[in-house]
Amino acid sequence: MLNTAREPMTPFHKPSTTLGSKVAPLALASAILLVAACSALLIPLLLDVKEKRLWVQHTYEVLAELDTIRTGIGDAEASQREFLVAHEDERLAPYRAAIRSLSEATGKLSTLVSDNAAQVARARTLDQQVSEKLADLSRSLQQPRSATPLPQQGTADAQRGAVLTRQIRETIQIMRREEQRLLTTRSNALEQVAPRSIAFAVGTLLLALLALTAAGYLAVREIRRRTQAETVLQTSERRYRLLAENTIDIVRLLSSDPQQAYTSPATRTVLGYEPEEFAILPPEELVHPDDLAHAQVCRTGLSPEHPSRVGTHRYRHRRGHWVWLEVAYRLMEADNADLVLAVARDVTQRKSQEEVLRAAVADAKTARAQAEAASQAKTDFLASMSHEIRTPLNGILGYTDLLLAENQLNPGQRLRLERIHSSGSALLTVVNDVLDFSKIEAGQIEIEPRPFALAALVDNSLSIVRSLAEHKNLALSAHVGMGVPENLVGDQDRLRQVLLNLLNNALKFTAKGSVTLQIGHLPDASLPAGERRVRFSVTDTGIGIPAAKRELLFERFSQVDNSTSREFGGTGLGLAISQRLVQLMGGQILVASEVGQGSTFSFEVVLPLSESADQGAHRPVPASRTGAVSQGANVLLAEDLEINQDIARSILEAAGHRVDIAADGVRAVEAVQQRVYDLVLMDVQMPIMNGIAATRHIRSLGTAYVDLPIVALTANVLPHQVQAFTEAGMNGHIGKPFKRDELLAAVERWARDVPATRELVEGETLPENNSVPEESGFNVAVFNEVLDLLGPVRTGELLRRFDQELDARIGADMKGRTPGEFAGHAHALASQAGFLGFVALRERCLAVEAICMEEPEKADLAVLLSGLMRQRDAVRGPLLQLEASLVNGSP
Ligand code: ADP
Repeated sequence: MLNTAREPMTPFHKPSTTLGSKVAPLALASAILLVAACSALLIPLLLDVKEKRLWVQHTYEVLAELDTIRTGIGDAEASQREFLVAHEDERLAPYRAAIRSLSEATGKLSTLVSDNAAQVARARTLDQQVSEKLADLSRSLQQPRSATPLPQQGTADAQRGAVLTRQIRETIQIMRREEQRLLTTRSNALEQVAPRSIAFAVGTLLLALLALTAAGYLAVREIRRRTQAETVLQTSERRYRLLAENTIDIVRLLSSDPQQAYTSPATRTVLGYEPEEFAILPPEELVHPDDLAHAQVCRTGLSPEHPSRVGTHRYRHRRGHWVWLEVAYRLMEADNADLVLAVARDVTQRKSQEEVLRAAVADAKTARAQAEAASQAKTDFLASMSHEIRTPLNGILGYTDLLLAENQLNPGQRLRLERIHSSGSALLTVVNDVLDFSKIEAGQIEIEPRPFALAALVDNSLSIVRSLAEHKNLALSAHVGMGVPENLVGDQDRLRQVLLNLLNNALKFTAKGSVTLQIGHLPDASLPAGERRVRFSVTDTGIGIPAAKRELLFERFSQVDNSTSREFGGTGLGLAISQRLVQLMGGQILVASEVGQGSTFSFEVVLPLSESADQGAHRPVPASRTGAVSQGANVLLAEDLEINQDIARSILEAAGHRVDIAADGVRAVEAVQQRVYDLVLMDVQMPIMNGIAATRHIRSLGTAYVDLPIVALTANVLPHQVQAFTEAGMNGHIGKPFKRDELLAAVERWARDVPATRELVEGETLPENNSVPEESGFNVAVFNEVLDLLGPVRTGELLRRFDQELDARIGADMKGRTPGEFAGHAHALASQAGFLGFVALRERCLAVEAICMEEPEKADLAVLLSGLMRQRDAVRGPLLQLEASLVNGSP
């Protein structure tokens, strides 16, 4: 954090080291060392020279003493003689002086030669000789002056004196020679040593001087450099200080060393504190409690791996309010976590803007969530409204359909019924339009291109509106132009919806004349080879539309003349929906019209070519069928409402189908296990178990139920609902209220075919504890052999008997039987079934027989019975058809 220690303010300082600063003391030390080394070598040399010089000096001193002795003896003799001649006392002065000097000289000499044993001996001899001489002289001087020496005595004295003198001179001579020799030797030695020492001394001195000069030079240079560096540093420091002190950000150097620490004066403007005051404030007082921990992490978390960090925290202003500071921490030196640069910027404004933005985003999210909730609510409302309106409408339209199909109505009743029916239809149109438009607006409608046959689309569309055209006595026709491909890829359901809207409008607003659907191919070179531009147009000879109103045609809820809605009905949504659908297909509906003459609505879409139309998946819905479709389909109708049960059952049974009713999902699941159905019509909203759960349940029963067609019969028709049906395993859906023809068309489309030659039953398995093999169906070859053998009459007779046997042996009354009785019935049926070619039934009977005989205690008779009953039902249809064909003579 910005505050971590109590640090006084110090200026920036950073000492610098250079090469010069290291070399100068080194050179100085080297010079001193050199001088010391030279001195160590030179001193003994000089001492040696001195010693040798002392010895020479010493020799000279010895020689001088010897000379003194010799001179003293001479002086004493001369003085003695002069006194003897003159007898004057003063003539003895030299003699007395000589005695003193001789005494000193001999004493000195003894000392001087003390280092030389030979000379010591000689000096002793000399000393003795001198003493004798002086004694001799003294004796001669002490003789009385009147006594005249005898000539012989005088001569003897003289001779003795001369001998003594000679001896002294000889001793002195010997000693002198010795000293001369020593002098020569010592002088030579001195001469040899002295010049070398001087040369060495001079050289050393020069070297030392050189070293000192170099060291001095470096020292001077270093001092100059340091001075310069100091100046540069001071300049730069001044500059940085100026920067730090004038920047609006707080700049701090954080360190435990007070000498390093620094706080810029921006603390005054940013937080209201004096820098010194700020620097010693403890973090707990300064940083917001919520931010303290993070601030501490930012400051202390710096390391060579993470040398910088940025944190945004609240700091207390001196006046008490909080200020947001964005603090950037950086290690000043990579390896020194103690010295940190912290630059703090006031980001309070930015923070408050962020807060505003965050609040705005949160508001937007809430608004969006509310909008989505509203949209969801709208979707849910539409779903529920659609369901709630469609369900009673189903009753109205269904019953009027049924009543209109009866012949006992008088004209008045028929008219009223027709009005009820047309009112219901109008209401259904309104519901459909509103739903469609809502779906388009919610982006829930997607174009799903699939291959389709254009001729079938045209035929289908015209057939739906033909009754209206016939009713109004209008000529209705279609023209498909030359070159229009037969098979295209597009969303034919949506194309049909648009065409029906245009055709319906044309018929609605035309009183006499004709309505024509034209389809043409427009050559378009810009299109890829596999695509065609197709133009659809619907032309009528009706009331026409004024030019001023044409623009509004495609607006929702717009009608050219409000009175028309009373006359012709409609919501004003049809064209808006059609336009959106065509736009989704990449086209645009255009209108050309003349009031009183008629109108043409047209649009162009680009559709890819297809090699074949997808007839199987999207078989066109027959518009009007009066006869029954595939006869005798076994239909299970899962529907809870009695009205709906009644209507659907009436329509289906009137068309020749057999209908069982299950009032809820659970009963539907049970029913499919007890009989074989060609189709299950499944309501979705049912008590106990809904249609989706029931479908899932049925699909999970085993392989026999995978292909069982299950079609939702429901008022839930929104895309996400339809999606849910598919996911649950339903094959398709019919919207309620359904029209009679639609229902029958759906049965025709979805019900499993029941031709005489088809394999009877697809594979199915029993529960695992009764491992009866899967049925393999009906073997027509076996049956034909029987036919050849017995002929049609007897074979027919056999089939009837077998039919009766089936009822007798496989029925609800078997429930109380024992395994042994089960086995007996199964055995009896197995042989008859096998004889007639009903292989699957035979195998099942044999398997049941085996289980009942071999493991009677394990046999689940209820399950075995239900399997047998399913198999019985499965053969019933073909059995009857075979009987019928034998009667008709065309097997
Ligand atoms: P509606 O359900 O009212 O028919 P549409 O959107 O299909 O809604 O049509 C809107 C209005 O456009 C109609 O009410 C009618 O006034 C006018 N209109 C549509 N087609 C024709 C036509 N072929 N001839 C004359 N007027 C038409």
